[in-house]
Amino acid sequence: MKPPKSRSGSGKKDTGIKRVPGKALKSAAAPGASDAGHDSATSRTSRDKYVALRTARGRTPAQQRWLNRQLNDPYVVAARKQGWRSRAAFKLIEIDDRFKLIHPGTRIIDLGAAPGGWTQVAVKRGAKHVAGVDLLPVDPVAGAEIVEGDFTDPEMPDRLKEILGGPADLVMSDMAPNTTGHAATDHIRIMGLAEGALDFAMQVLAEGGSFVAKVFQGGSEKQMLIPMKKAFTSVKHVKPPASRKDSSELYVVATGFRPDRLNDGT
Ligand code: SAM
Repeated sequence: MKPPKSRSGSGKKDTGIKRVPGKALKSAAAPGASDAGHDSATSRTSRDKYVALRTARGRTPAQQRWLNRQLNDPYVVAARKQGWRSRAAFKLIEIDDRFKLIHPGTRIIDLGAAPGGWTQVAVKRGAKHVAGVDLLPVDPVAGAEIVEGDFTDPEMPDRLKEILGGPADLVMSDMAPNTTGHAATDHIRIMGLAEGALDFAMQVLAEGGSFVAKVFQGGSEKQMLIPMKKAFTSVKHVKPPASRKDSSELYVVATGFRPDRLNDGT
């Protein structure tokens, strides 16, 4: 199979030069180890060959398209090479490079942690305690504790705070439901998760804490902004470069939690 002329869909000639996320420079520690070494997502260029699927082997066209995309996605390739469990790890690296949310000593809750990419980044960047939760089992990440369960379980806020040994400085949610392919339904589901994550954050965050959550463009994400703008001093939307351009996914980043504003009647 010949590579398509342009994979960007822009109609521009494909030069074969792809942006590749930066690797863990000079850091001897594997991702997930408790070492805040260099793991900047600084983009660089490299000349990678287009990898074609050798055989369809009973796969549906949709499965073939997905596999071809995985094989040729520089973030997937870089994540595998650098030892991150997900390409999503680069999204958090890029968000944190910009907003500086994770510091040595930060206490972090990771909602929807599987397979563990964001947890690895949190630990690598020096978080003091990281507590995660997911419906799916997650292989252990050194320096973090991940609970198998549903974040909406009424006991979960206290359980995760107990693991942290106190309130969280950062609550991050990369949670996503299983998609149905029906855009409106998927949007409602993800916004339900994001709003649930915001409620959760308000129960566990320390004053001055931060909240990051995946949302989808499509209208109702604006409703979330009203309580967020009340409870946080700054609220911004960001589309990290690692987030696929053809996805309506983006992230909301809120900083400066003000619990006193929650019940002030305004
Ligand atoms: N940030 C992760 C990483 O870098 O490895 C990837 C997260 S993945 C995109 C989304 C996760 O959200 C899935 O593993 C899913 O099981 C989890 N999830 C969805 N609903 C959940 C819920 N109610 N409680 C806990 N986890 C949930």
